[in-house]
Amino acid sequence: MIVEVLPVGQLDANCYILACEETKEAAVIDPGGDAEDILNLLNLLAVKPKYIICTHGHADHIAAVDRVKAATGAKVLVHSADAEMFGNPQKNLSVFLGQNVTLQPADQLLCGGEIIKLGSLELEVISVPGHTEGGICIKVENAVFTGDTLFAGSVGRSDFPGGDHRQLIKGIKEKLLVLPGETRVYPGHGPDTLIEQEKRHNPFIQ
Ligand SMILES: [Zn+2]
Ligand SMILES: [Zn+2]
Repeated sequence: MIVEVLPVGQLDANCYILACEETKEAAVIDPGGDAEDILNLLNLLAVKPKYIICTHGHADHIAAVDRVKAATGAKVLVHSADAEMFGNPQKNLSVFLGQNVTLQPADQLLCGGEIIKLGSLELEVISVPGHTEGGICIKVENAVFTGDTLFAGSVGRSDFPGGDHRQLIKGIKEKLLVLPGETRVYPGHGPDTLIEQEKRHNPFIQ
């Protein structure tokens, strides 16, 4: 499994390139800006992008979706509850960043529970609403990509439309903290961490 991180856009969202080492099939998780940098990294890694997966519909995680799709032909996936954020700068919050992010509709809508095959890797889609209604985490091998649901030492905001703090904490406890302690957490912003570390020290989920 290949995992590369690239902080993108004005909010430094983590865009991840996830790829199967054998087949080089890849997924771009959260292309939230800096499309050229993402495309350069894909070239450098010599991987074949098959999917673009958005952990949720906020602009800092989706802004470069159309440009990466146009250059790679990858299929765009997002949870159905966040799908309309793609075409709505109010809902994806880009208007508040002084941008106007309006994207084409996603190619496939998720609802949680799907298994996405990427070469020899199996990506499990875990629905964890609370930051947005359509927030997902992606579990693969001993890693989980958590978007703005869970960060090192923190959790996502729930004061945006569609946010729900209690639901977020419940989802983190029931769906993420039950993963093996050594599971590597790749969040939507900031450094990576481990499930064990967050279970013990994250002040928001004690
Ligand atoms: Zn967000
Ligand atoms: Zn974010």
